[in-house]
Amino acid sequence: MIDFREVTKAYPNGTLALHEITLHIEQGEFVFVVGASGAGKSTFLKLLLHEEVPTSGSVRVGAFELNSLRAQDIPMYRRQMGVVFQDFRLLTTMNVYENVAFAMRVIGARGKRIDRRVTYLLQLVGLEKKVRCMPNELSGGEQQRVAIARALANNPDLIIADEPTGNIDPQMSKDLLDLFVRLNEEGTTVVMVTHAHDLVRQYNKRVVILDGGVITADGGLRAQGGIPDQNRGGQAAPAYMTQTIPPIPPLQEVPSYHRRPRPVAPAEGRQRTAEEGLPFPWELERMNQAK
Ligand code: ADP
Repeated sequence: MIDFREVTKAYPNGTLALHEITLHIEQGEFVFVVGASGAGKSTFLKLLLHEEVPTSGSVRVGAFELNSLRAQDIPMYRRQMGVVFQDFRLLTTMNVYENVAFAMRVIGARGKRIDRRVTYLLQLVGLEKKVRCMPNELSGGEQQRVAIARALANNPDLIIADEPTGNIDPQMSKDLLDLFVRLNEEGTTVVMVTHAHDLVRQYNKRVVILDGGVITADGGLRAQGGIPDQNRGGQAAPAYMTQTIPPIPPLQEVPSYHRRPRPVAPAEGRQRTAEEGLPFPWELERMNQAK
């Protein structure tokens, strides 16, 4: 699935960020990429996302040979992957539902298909009660779950996560990791760059260690025994972690979150929200009278 062959990346100022990296990741693998600051982790991700190109060596991802990827093929290339960032990168002017739906719309999905999938994904990440919330009304962990739902919107073969737990609390970090593990068990390849070594130690996954632009270790890390609930402080796992993933519900049972709430006149002096739109006729009248 991912093939780095003797990849070297030197930035124009001469910094050698990666030096002859050779790395192969199979479809269906779960790989943590760890390393100190400056080790080359971001550069590795940038090459993977085709934001940077190698100085020498080759990068292949799925059916795409990145060295010869044409500009017009880049959107198609990125469509096979869902990306999750440390700072969430949600669209702040859109609600939870729209953030996920938008990812589907930009690639041409329409109507009921979007509604079914967004509903399903928000249920999967345990946010079905927050569909109408704006990102700034959510906790960090909730925002990251929206980002994950968005990353999954187009059924990616590959999830790339860049420090996804960097801005969320330890318990939520663990829950997010458990969610990645479940998605991985269903066949999605996961590549996660992280500083959170304690978290990494709790999972018996392949760990690639970068140091000074080279891979210094690559292999499994033994889970440290008795891990699953030790950080949960005795709390039960949230329902969405223990339920089986619900099948996509049949069309008629899917609530339509597209439907706008009935417009109500905003209380005197209150700022109108974007959704409430233009003034109502009776307000226009009042405004005209006031002139
Ligand atoms: P990490 O993500 O592990 O902190 P990076 O890939 O960001 O590491 O950086 C690897 C090395 O490349 C560092 O020495 C960094 O200063 C340098 N570097 C990163 N980006 C650039 C850039 N755009 N121009 C010049 N040097 C860079």
